[in-house]
Amino acid sequence: MPIDATLPYDDENIFAKILRGEIPSTRVYEDEFAIAFHDIAPVAPHHILVIPRGAYVSWDDFSARASDAEIAGFVRAVGAVARDAGMVGDGYRLLANIGRDAGQEVPHLHVHILSGRPLGPMLAR
Ligand code: AMP
Repeated sequence: MPIDATLPYDDENIFAKILRGEIPSTRVYEDEFAIAFHDIAPVAPHHILVIPRGAYVSWDDFSARASDAEIAGFVRAVGAVARDAGMVGDGYRLLANIGRDAGQEVPHLHVHILSGRPLGPMLAR
């Protein structure tokens, strides 16, 4: 069910639980600012989610409230995850859903990294 991205942060969301290690994930990266793990329902051969360690509902919330260090750290982490996974040569797609019309389901900012085949047009017509 898509979320309302204007709601306050909910500490019990599934990615908050993954960050706290309360539920399992296949972690492929972690640093001071971000962690990355495999999406549980991949829509491409490689589908990784990168999330900030801080409590931000969405890209909107993050870009408004996060510190410059958190923003720089998160953006660098996304790049590093794709680079470490060898995605740069063939290319990859970044996607962040914000709120209801975009279909955001988990109310903790996440960037999808998708790769491993030609990904087709950006959106279905
Ligand atoms: P979004 O629609 O942008 O909010 O994307 C949420 C993503 O989280 C979907 O691609 C789900 O497959 C993924 N997801 C949900 N629960 C988990 C989980 N426990 N571990 C990994 N990925 C998950």
